[in-house]
Order: sequence, then structure tokens, then C-alpha cells
Amino acid sequence: MRRNRSRVYFIDMRSTASNSQVDRFRKTLRRAGIADLAGKGELLAIKMHFGERGCTSYIRPIYLRTIIDVVTESGCLAFLTDTNTLYVGSRSNSVAHIRTAIENGFSYASMGIPIIIADGLRGANYESIAIGGGYMKEVKIASDIVHCDALLAVTHVKGHELTGVGGALKNIGMGCGSRAGKLEMHSGMEPKVTDACTGCGKCVRWCPAGAISIEAKHAVIDSKKCIGCAECIVVCPNGAMRINWKWDARYVQERMVEYAAGVLKTKGRKVGFVNFVMDISPQCDCYGFSDASIVPDVGILVSKDPVAVDKASVDLINAQVGIPGTALGSRRKGSDKLRQIHKEIDWRIQFEHAQKLGLGTENYELVKVK
Ligand code: SF4
Ligand code: SF4
Repeated sequence: MRRNRSRVYFIDMRSTASNSQVDRFRKTLRRAGIADLAGKGELLAIKMHFGERGCTSYIRPIYLRTIIDVVTESGCLAFLTDTNTLYVGSRSNSVAHIRTAIENGFSYASMGIPIIIADGLRGANYESIAIGGGYMKEVKIASDIVHCDALLAVTHVKGHELTGVGGALKNIGMGCGSRAGKLEMHSGMEPKVTDACTGCGKCVRWCPAGAISIEAKHAVIDSKKCIGCAECIVVCPNGAMRINWKWDARYVQERMVEYAAGVLKTKGRKVGFVNFVMDISPQCDCYGFSDASIVPDVGILVSKDPVAVDKASVDLINAQVGIPGTALGSRRKGSDKLRQIHKEIDWRIQFEHAQKLGLGTENYELVKVK
């Protein structure tokens, strides 16, 4: 396990005519060693989330273009990538996924590199990677993530309804799992319907697995069909769907981290992490909407350590004063904003498990780049 402090390079949102944020971002990527991740002719996967159709908080294409310009100076063969979703949406097969990415601004014309969906046409392409020290003996990682030479995880940091925070660990853990892998991470999770249910039927129309029906003006979930995607929790207008905490709250986070361990095992030191702490929406980018940012934009963090970059991101979010009129209750500086949004989810679980598995350290040094 790494015990030393990990460096996390950071640029804030300030910009001037002679030193724009994009200029500083280029400088930061080079200082953090991201420009050298992959050599001439090597295949570099830039793992990102293109945003569901209707989502507005995903990473802006201008930043991706900057990353691509820097990493391809080495002559490497970079490609943008993600995996297909577990639920049925605008990114659940490769054709729809690439179309959504293009609609959201990530085309070959704008990026200059191709998009390859890493787990194949319908999410069935994976390699089993043996891991140790956790619940699982092996994990099912998307084939092209395994087969590429280097990996750069480019992550929009935001709240998350299952893991508290969605950062780099989630991007490479959940985000690099094949469909079977995602099911494995979610399995066992099923929301419960509370008395607040009015039987409006919105969740029935939304559920990607057709697992909900209305009986006696009350939603009922079919356990055999539920895939644990948690979409019904977010869409219910009455807050009637709740995570079932009889189910172990640690389940998704620790398994997600074990998937991250599998990904990192295949890449050795050829990994890097760029976290965008901007447009910090309460929920992930898998929904067809984005709620208002809970705190002001913070900046961009770059590191070789996924635990350090995520911990620094969370610390910076919590150090902000919350924005009024958002999903936040207390806007107090220093309060745990993510825990306020997702009260029952302790996001620290993923950091603890990642440290235990030796993926990185919460002990970081923040290096501000001017
Ligand atoms: S959306 Fe909410 S209130 Fe409407 S049926 Fe589903 S659980 Fe009940
Ligand atoms: S978590 Fe909710 S929306 Fe997702 S499959 Fe289960 S019942 Fe349907």
C-alpha cells in the first residue's frame, strides 16, 4: 500500500487574456506527466462519460480537445471511450452511444480522434481479470480497456445516488465494467416503495427493466426483473422510492472499487486521472437532465493517483459555500455537501476500500498551478 503523499495538481477557474484556463490546463497536464502516458504508436484510452441525451452537466468538449492535443503530441493512438449502460437509455448499445456522444459535441470533426465503445456493440465484450484482497476473485472488464496500452480517466465529479460521489474511482470501476460486470456491482440492490407513493405511475414509465407495476394505487417492484439501477429513486416526484438499506450500503461502493482494482492491474503505471470539479450536479450524468450545481465551479485536478484526486475533489467541494436555491439544505462552508444530498450514503467507504486494496492514498499534496 502506498503511504506517501500523492501529488494532485490543481487549477482554479480564473482566466486572463495572457494566461487562460486552457493554457494553464495544458501546462498542468504536462507537469503531472499526462503528456507522456502513452508513447508513439501505443493505444491510449481516454475514458469519459459522454452524458445521457438531455444531460447538460457533462464535461465541455473544449477541455477534451485540449487533453487530446497534449496527449497525442507523443504520436500515440488515442481514442475516446466509455462502456454501454446497464439500463436502457441513449447509451445502451454502441450505435446509440456514439450518436449521443456526437450530439453532445464529441465527434471526430471536433475531437480529431475516434470513439470506440469499449465493451462492444451490446456490452457483451469483456475479459475476466483476477484480483485479490476483496469480495470478488475476478472482475469482468470491458475488452478494449484491457487491450489498450494506457488509460486516462477524464471524470466529471458530481453527487451520485448510489455511491455518494461520482469521481475517478467510479469512472474506472463502474464505468469500465462490462454489462455483466455492472450487473454484478448492482446485484442485490433494490429500492423499496414507501407510503408516500401516490401510484402516479411515473416510475413505471421510466424503469428501464419493466420491473415496476401499479397495484392498488401503489408501486410494486418485481425483484426478478429489477437491475438495481436506482433510476426510480431519482424520478419519483414524491420521494417515495428509497434505497433499501437492509441491503448493505457498502455493497456497490466496495465492488465498484474492486472493479477499479481490476482495471488498474491491467495498466500498471500507465494511468492518469483528470477530475473536472465543475457543474457539480447532485446526481450522475446518466439521467436525461441535470439539476443545478450545488456549489460554484472549483476547477480541474490532475493526478496519477485515483484516490488522492477524488479525495481532493470532495474536500474542495465541501470547502465551498453552497449555492442558494439548489438541492442543498445547509450551504455552510465546510459542511459535507455530498452527504446532505445523499444522506444515507457514506462516500468514505469507497476511499477506505481503495486504500485497503492499495489503489492510492487519501493523503495528498495539492499543487496549485498558476
Ligand atoms: S413515481 Fe413515486 S409516487 Fe409515482 S408510482 Fe412511482 S413510487 Fe409511486
Ligand atoms: S432500480 Fe428502480 S428503475 Fe431500476 S430496475 Fe429496479 S425498479 Fe426499475
